[in-house]
Amino acid sequence: MASLFKIPIHQLNGIGPKRAELFQKLGADSVGALLRLYPKKYEDWSSPSAISETDSAEPCCVKAYITGAYPPARIRKNMAIYKLEAEDGYDRMTITFFNQQYLYEKLRNGGEYLFYGTVKKNFSVYEMSNPAVASVNSAVIHPIYQHTGTLTGKQVEKAVEQALKMLPENINDPIPPDILKKYELCSLDFAIKNIHFPKDLPSLAAAKNRLIFEELLILQIGMARLKGGRQTAAGNRIPSDFTKEFYDLLPFEPTNAQKKAVSDCINDMKNSLYPMNRLIQGDVGSGKTAVAAAVCYTAVKNGMQCAFMVPTEILAEQHMASLSDIFSGSGIKTALLTGSVKSSQKKQICRALSDGSIDVVIGTHALISDNVVFQNLGLVITDEQHRFGVAQRAALIAKGSRPHIMVMSATPIPRTLALMIFGDLDLSVLDELPPGRKKVDTFLIDSGKRNRAYGFLKKQIEEGHQCYIVCPLVEQSEMMDMESAEEYVEKLRKSELCHCRIAILHGKMKASQKEQIMNEFKDGNIDILVSTTVIEVGVNVPNATIMMIENAERFGLSQLHQLRGRVGRGKAKSYCILISDMKSKTSVERLKVMCRTNNGFLIADEDLRLRGPGDFFGSRQHGLPELKIAGMSSMTSLEDTQEAARIILQSDPDLSLKEHRGLAFETRRLFGRVGNTEQLQ
Ligand code: ADP
Ligand code: MG
Repeated sequence: MASLFKIPIHQLNGIGPKRAELFQKLGADSVGALLRLYPKKYEDWSSPSAISETDSAEPCCVKAYITGAYPPARIRKNMAIYKLEAEDGYDRMTITFFNQQYLYEKLRNGGEYLFYGTVKKNFSVYEMSNPAVASVNSAVIHPIYQHTGTLTGKQVEKAVEQALKMLPENINDPIPPDILKKYELCSLDFAIKNIHFPKDLPSLAAAKNRLIFEELLILQIGMARLKGGRQTAAGNRIPSDFTKEFYDLLPFEPTNAQKKAVSDCINDMKNSLYPMNRLIQGDVGSGKTAVAAAVCYTAVKNGMQCAFMVPTEILAEQHMASLSDIFSGSGIKTALLTGSVKSSQKKQICRALSDGSIDVVIGTHALISDNVVFQNLGLVITDEQHRFGVAQRAALIAKGSRPHIMVMSATPIPRTLALMIFGDLDLSVLDELPPGRKKVDTFLIDSGKRNRAYGFLKKQIEEGHQCYIVCPLVEQSEMMDMESAEEYVEKLRKSELCHCRIAILHGKMKASQKEQIMNEFKDGNIDILVSTTVIEVGVNVPNATIMMIENAERFGLSQLHQLRGRVGRGKAKSYCILISDMKSKTSVERLKVMCRTNNGFLIADEDLRLRGPGDFFGSRQHGLPELKIAGMSSMTSLEDTQEAARIILQSDPDLSLKEHRGLAFETRRLFGRVGNTEQLQ
């Protein structure tokens, strides 16, 4: 299939330069890439349900006879209602069309049809409004594609149809035949055809399974090769350990998990083979900062400088405050370097970094800028690492000579996934919270109870607390995101919360605007912060006690857990309110997990069990290549792909064998986008 990536998308009929641009926006710049643009969902017309078996929460297909028609009713000048009666041999239902006279005229003559839509039950009457209609012999599984701007999903579908005709007779399968056989996977040819136009449900499942396997396999191979390519010369090897001395500086007793993580790091730094390259994974509030401080302390006492990079200015300031607190009286000199530090001061800090008089610098990506030079950068720490691209991390690392690297991530993910996503790093997990943490009570309600929840917010605000509301996010564009947030605030201003001080935070704002609002919130000048999901990860406002999340079903559990982690940081009891009107069993089951536990790792495991690995890769929160399996929930065994990667690399570490050419191509294609190609040769 490699050759199809060389055929630009505009070579397809009906795609001019304008439309080609829209296809590019969806990631399909070539015919090959278009074939890898999988449908985002499917309408299953292939196995119609009985009217009484439908679930009002999910759209479905019903096969029914038309048994009668009501006279049309004109309710407004440009609105006519056409009602028909239908039955499936057991139950009757009413079908209503708005303004679709043509369909009505056609159907009123009777006959059997397929209807696709949601069936609502009103008392004992079943009803379907504006369903899509098709003849009974078109019972297929229909792909639904992404759309963007004026490019419709239907047009994407037409283009895919053309592209499929261009598939060569014998397409080169990147998965070697022995692996296909061992794990009972279908061929690429079958998978590509059936992911777009599935023959039936089992074929679709086989196609998904194979494509997920392929992506995970390529991801593992790419990561394994990155890890294999890591430097083998020792870093700044440390002779001595200063942790006991450091623990005396801490105002609390470290947890066992913290002690273990610190000693993992110290052992890495004593290693004479290669520098430390470690990921510290810990749930929100597990005390990662103290671990970072301990490692920093040891590095500085061994004569090195440390750079601590975080994604936002607020976080930088927060870390600066905690570290200078812990280090006060230790003789360690710290400095803060962010975009808003005055240039005269910046110069001074840069000078002090280059002559070694500052030991620890904490900052944003300002640290990467060219005029920042270190005398002896021995340790690089990045916090909330998913916000940094691989390239940014690399730029900071390049300022030292083989510095030790420590990456801190606040997104608990199951161990199998962590090993894959961060395959180039060793892993320590903080699986224990400091004593005395209070659980954030979590409630799941439907929008009918929203006003009561507002009343609760009002009470908390009257007691001097603050609240976050995450409003429904609109995935289409940042523009619409902003509008939906603004509309939401308008509604709030008409509710009983009208007297509260309300502010908005959304994706269209400049970073400086966002920071300003966050600072106002931190200072207590805002009661309610309404935001799309841009709430800064890691921000600490202990006075905030409520996190209310609209359309909670739209978020992954791990994301909900992150959001919930914004509250419960102070002494006061905190609450999380999830609002969702979804009634389907799986979605309720998922959200109930949030009410049951506050443990991020358990939640991550549940999320993986219920939704498969797609979500973890789909959120693009990891700085890894973008995967197409996002949203595909069928579960391929991660262990299987891990094993397969091992088998392949053992026999052919450079992927130079002929049967691995396709795999080498796909690995380059996937990893090329994150700028890692040079490391993968
Ligand atoms: P996170 O892992 O989310 O970055 P922090 O490092 O910000 O967590 O720590 C959260 C809070 O817990 C801080 O106020 C910190 O001082 C406190 N803390 C950390 N470790 C301990 C401990 N072992 N005992 C008591 N409090 C601790
Ligand atoms: Mg933190």
